[in-house]
Amino acid sequence: MQNTFDVIIIGSGIVGVSTAWHLRGIGFAGTIAIVERDPSFSHSSTSQAIGGIWQQFSLKENVQMSLYGAKFLKEFAKEQKIDLDFQEHGYLFLADDAAQGTLERNVEQQRKLKADIALLTPALLEQHFPWLNTDGLATGALGLSNEGWFDAHQLHSSMRSAVRDWDVPLIKGSVTEIEHTDTEIRSVMLDNGRRLKCGHLVNATGPNAGILTRMARIRLPIEPRKRSIFMVHGESAPAEMPVLVDPNGVFLRPDGPFHICGVAPDKTDDRRSSASDIEPDPDLFNDIIKPALAARLPGVKEFKIIRSWAGHYDYNNFDQIAVLGPHTRLENFYFANGFSGIGLQQGPAAGRAVAELILHGAYQTLDLSRLGFERIVENQPLEEENLI
Ligand SMILES: Cc1cc2nc3c(=O)[nH]c(=O)nc-3n(C[C@H](O)[C@H](O)[C@H](O)COP(=O)(O)OP(=O)(O)OC[C@H]3O[C@@H](n4cnc5c(N)ncnc54)[C@H](O)[C@@H]3O)c2cc1C
Repeated sequence: MQNTFDVIIIGSGIVGVSTAWHLRGIGFAGTIAIVERDPSFSHSSTSQAIGGIWQQFSLKENVQMSLYGAKFLKEFAKEQKIDLDFQEHGYLFLADDAAQGTLERNVEQQRKLKADIALLTPALLEQHFPWLNTDGLATGALGLSNEGWFDAHQLHSSMRSAVRDWDVPLIKGSVTEIEHTDTEIRSVMLDNGRRLKCGHLVNATGPNAGILTRMARIRLPIEPRKRSIFMVHGESAPAEMPVLVDPNGVFLRPDGPFHICGVAPDKTDDRRSSASDIEPDPDLFNDIIKPALAARLPGVKEFKIIRSWAGHYDYNNFDQIAVLGPHTRLENFYFANGFSGIGLQQGPAAGRAVAELILHGAYQTLDLSRLGFERIVENQPLEEENLI
């Protein structure tokens, strides 16, 4: 049994698999293994995600990573001859007077980065979306291409099988210890007693990233934060529409014969949750989502819950932006963590970024150096104004 690998990736969600896929894709010929404690993925963030992709961010790197994600989806589907069911209907972010300036400024920056976003006046919103009540709205921003939703499950499973075909074994086990010196990681210990030595170690453990990193005596501010999703039925709700995002953060989009909606909890209620807490919070639907949808889509009699579920964001409580790249002291320990709700769309770019750092020692495609761990050490948070 092989117990030494050039690269060990812990976690086989979208980010871990993408790292392995890109390593092979850019020509890394060394040995790679992925360690996964739950090959059923029942609790991974990736399996709870709802497949959304959009470029309407304020941080340059977030726009660029999401654009890379959209391009990747299209190319990967073509290459693998699979249908990722990419519904390119856009995200429609609505703004009231208070948020109008920020939204317009962000759209200007997004367009400079080649994101295809249109600004719509209330009159244009009414023209394009006759079911929308524009009361209280000052403007809306709509993604005209590269935005919408796709089959996340299909992407993840197809990438997993592509990686298996490229001689990357999936080793079942939970990493419980990390052996290291002052400057490098040497090996990881699994719960079944197996020790695996590594040249490079990648932390792709999603919401568990902070706990994993503590095994190497490093504090990484990533924690699980619960998010509830509601599948709903609404009589005469529009079957074709973009992902609607109300100024208060409530979102809605079609899903087959039904619709999917959600909202982040109020900041005062949004705190670290236990990874085992997967009970959706019905108060979010009854108190926030339902009244917001009733006001915004007055033609729909009532949205009723068909089913609901909850998963965990890999939440970076420092600045809600991904942490990418090596640790400052343990230089062969790489982070690909803290995506805070957008890791599915950023998974392709994050995997490519980490792969380039391992193979070339520097970014080749997108310069994501501002997302490094240094900013945490130096207490220099970045800012993203548009997270939902
Ligand atoms: C409800 C919900 C909706 C979302 N919707 C979207 C969306 O529309 N668009 C979007 O871009 N993002 C979305 N996200 C966010 C996105 O799902 C995550 O950011 C992304 O899936 C993170 O991927 P990951 O591979 O880092 O983590 P995960 O998918 O959680 O994978 C990590 C893996 O590591 C394994 N692991 C953990 N610890 C260990 C250990 N010690 N040893 C071995 N294995 C370990 C876990 O079992 C897990 O399989 C959503 C998230 C949630 C919860």
